[in-house]
Amino acid sequence: MNFERTPEQRAIVEAVTQLCSDFGADYWSGLDDEGKFPHAFHQAMAQAGWLGIAMPEAYGGAGLGITEAALIMQTVSASGAGFSGASAIHMNVFGLNPVVVFGNDRQKEAALPPLIAGTQKACFAVTEPDAGLDTTHLKTQAVLSADGGSYRVDGRKIWISTAQVADRMLLLARTTPLDKVAKPTQGLSLFYTALDRKHIEVREIHKMGRAAVDSNMLFIDGLTVPVTDRIGDEGRGFEYILHGLNPERILIAAEAVGLGAWRWKRQRAMRRSAPCSGARSARTRASSIRWRKRGWRWRPPT
Ligand SMILES: Cc1cc2nc3c(=O)[nH]c(=O)nc-3n(C[C@H](O)[C@H](O)[C@H](O)COP(=O)(O)OP(=O)(O)OC[C@H]3O[C@@H](n4cnc5c(N)ncnc54)[C@H](O)[C@@H]3O)c2cc1C
Repeated sequence: MNFERTPEQRAIVEAVTQLCSDFGADYWSGLDDEGKFPHAFHQAMAQAGWLGIAMPEAYGGAGLGITEAALIMQTVSASGAGFSGASAIHMNVFGLNPVVVFGNDRQKEAALPPLIAGTQKACFAVTEPDAGLDTTHLKTQAVLSADGGSYRVDGRKIWISTAQVADRMLLLARTTPLDKVAKPTQGLSLFYTALDRKHIEVREIHKMGRAAVDSNMLFIDGLTVPVTDRIGDEGRGFEYILHGLNPERILIAAEAVGLGAWRWKRQRAMRRSAPCSGARSARTRASSIRWRKRGWRWRPPT
């Protein structure tokens, strides 16, 4: 397999590195201390067109794939922005893929251009207090109205990133009770709808690290969701969200590699500016001799 980057991929990494250099350690540590969302960075990424990297060209995106998206996320994280930078744009990059794949033209026209332009933000509302990884047992219910025009949604969500600043949410809820479906993965439906704060209390969870990007509990009470905000068929939401979750795993891995690369670069810079203790440098020398003897060569991810 050829892991060499194409000229286009190298140009992407160079341009994102350049953009990120405007947002240094003071910017990120300041926002992390204050728990404030990196709006300026988000806007800069939108204006440069990076939020639409994996979105269809017909809606203003670049129509590129998971490799290019992963390179962007890795570069952001490796710039020193870490997970605060990556999580601020993560949802925009591939999170709405279920809408891209299963939404109708009207839904895509309404959802994608504002997300790509950075004028709207979206969050992903799946995890629940009593159903973390066990998604099929989530308790949030969406009940269709008698006239069939809307759903009433009630439930609780937890760990929802960016809900403090999001305008819209990709919401998974049960439309057919678990005991009435043949398989637990059936009977869940997916909605892309307004995060209506009149019916959703968004309560921030205090956490250590990545505080610039908020994590929240959502208390959803009597939220009306128009039937036109349902993505695809009723009851097939679980199948649909996998089209977002699967690429998301790759992006998270790329972000983690970027974080490791940044740590490595920083460690090296620190070693150069301040010589380490005798014992430490002897260990380091011994280990590099072992590596050379075995013909190993380690290159940090770039
Ligand atoms: C900072 C942060 C941001 C997040 N952002 C979002 C977001 O934006 N949107 C969203 O929907 N969710 C979000 N999440 C939620 C995240 O996806 C969940 O934390 C994750 O799905 C795991 O759920 P849980 O924490 O309830 O763990 P659990 O499901 O309780 O799992 C805990 C551990 O038990 C293990 N385990 C669970 N069930 C079994 C089993 N049956 N057999 C064996 N082992 C098992 C798991 O592997 C895991 O190691 C976020 C979480 C964090 C921490």
